[in-house]
Amino acid sequence: MQLPTYGQAFQHILQLARDNGFFVSLSQARLARGACNERLCTTYFTSFTPDDRRIAKALIVISGVHGIEGHIGHLAQCRILENKMRLELPDDTGLVLVHLVNPWGMSHGRRVDEQNIDVNRGCHFDGHGANALYNEVRSLVEPARLDNELLNALRAKISSEQERRAFFAAAVSGQWHAPNGIFYGGDRTCMSGELLAIACQQPFLAKLKQAVAIDVHSGLGPRGQGTLLCPLPSSEGAEADKTRRIFGETVQFINAGKPTITTGVNGDYLPAMKKRLGPKCDFTGIALEMGTTTVLESFPPLVFENALRHNPKLADATNQELVREQLAMFRRTFAPLDETDFMDAFYSVFDQTFRAGARGLSA
Ligand SMILES: [Zn+2]
Repeated sequence: MQLPTYGQAFQHILQLARDNGFFVSLSQARLARGACNERLCTTYFTSFTPDDRRIAKALIVISGVHGIEGHIGHLAQCRILENKMRLELPDDTGLVLVHLVNPWGMSHGRRVDEQNIDVNRGCHFDGHGANALYNEVRSLVEPARLDNELLNALRAKISSEQERRAFFAAAVSGQWHAPNGIFYGGDRTCMSGELLAIACQQPFLAKLKQAVAIDVHSGLGPRGQGTLLCPLPSSEGAEADKTRRIFGETVQFINAGKPTITTGVNGDYLPAMKKRLGPKCDFTGIALEMGTTTVLESFPPLVFENALRHNPKLADATNQELVREQLAMFRRTFAPLDETDFMDAFYSVFDQTFRAGARGLSA
């Protein structure tokens, strides 16, 4: 099955939005073109107009912070429209669908944006992070050769829990100095972060007194299971308690220094949204991470895909079977749309998360 193009996905959700009385409250065009040379936008669909005085709260559902993961995020947003899930919200609460934060990545089948930036590492708005540890793993994650030896070396780094944690802190938490590397966060606020700042100044968002945001991702965690990841710096305190009250005790606090399914990250999108909405908006954000495969299977393809994008000639020097296998696994990890059992599990997890967010706003 071919993944839908950006144009197909956009036409689909636009029609659903029109059929269900939603508004296009903001459309932010990108300079970079899509894989079919189409224009790319991040689009804010809302269930209300900016001058609707009843609305003081919103449930915000975000897709495509990691481009290719935007396929399942897009389908979740379509489901909200198709199943009229807005009716589950009280009268003072609107719905905001942030459609494809990184449309270039969705269109071109990459996690990162047109500048190789991981948007969840690139949303700092005063300076950027630093990660000297990355240099220690750089030759492994930006390899000069793609072969079975590399595969084995990468797998060895993540085969035990303890090793994986140390390796991911160096390789995955973000780096801001190797522009062709993995989990690169850029050297300034990334384009999606800049556009988020503009969006948060628009009346339909600026007027919110309370917001709950669900940012949809795929690829991490046990297959068919959803994990809720909270970016707060601590698992203690009023904000953490509020997050647990809304989404339950299983929420994992990735930046609180305790073991989770991933590593701590720096420069991610949800804290930027909270900051941009400002202190008068009571904001709770959660990433819904839908598991597809094991990290042992999913991490090497990330390295292969990135190396091949930056150095296409590497493909000629590489066993073609290995290239095909790794790129197929990349796609299976982040956009397994044709796997019905996975998609059924995803929709069920998404519905539960959506309802928890809606209840949290009406409490
Ligand atoms: Zn993601």
